[in-house]
Amino acid sequence: MLDVLIVEDEPSYVDALKITLEPEGFLVRTAADGRTALAAFEANVPDVILLDLMLPDISGLDVLRAVRRQSDVPVVVVSAKSAEADIVSALELGADDYLTKPYSSRELIARIRANTRRLADTGDRTLVVGKTVLDPSRYEIRIEETAFSLPRKEFELAQMLMERHGRVVTRETLLERIWGIEWGDSKSLDQHIRRLRRRFEKVEGAPRITTLRGVGYRLEP
Ligand code: CA
Repeated sequence: MLDVLIVEDEPSYVDALKITLEPEGFLVRTAADGRTALAAFEANVPDVILLDLMLPDISGLDVLRAVRRQSDVPVVVVSAKSAEADIVSALELGADDYLTKPYSSRELIARIRANTRRLADTGDRTLVVGKTVLDPSRYEIRIEETAFSLPRKEFELAQMLMERHGRVVTRETLLERIWGIEWGDSKSLDQHIRRLRRRFEKVEGAPRITTLRGVGYRLEP
């Protein structure tokens, strides 16, 4: 399930987006201004951001700038501004795509899917990062000639980090997705990270898990 953060101050657009996205299986969160959007982003990095540009406080471009300092999460700008200069500056600041209002729902969904393809349907998909192969059918990781199977939670942790390799995955996201928010126990997350790291350290060519203190983890090939 993809987690979408909608940044939009116009309630009728927010409603329309929810009606479009929820039946498609997206988990929708909304923010009606730029600061709320950044707080929501920092609390839990979404899989994709739909970003309006004209917001009541800071501009959508400022939100984009702040997001890009921390993450390469896909950002699709959805704006009434249709001038070439606006589109170019959003893309130059790191937006992945730009859709002008009014837009068709089908096109919006297609664009979101195109920009999140790397993340979609990862449940049973074999993941490859560098020399490391994660095989969900066997709960197994292979690194060249070495293969080891993992307990479920550790496997899911490896899977989430590999899916988003090179990007920071926040502790909140890991706790929520793997343990479920109500069971989220950060000590158990620390422990699982430590175990997974130890397994990787024994194998030459294995990826590295780096810690961003207080924020989260990043898997580097
Ligand atoms: Ca607006």
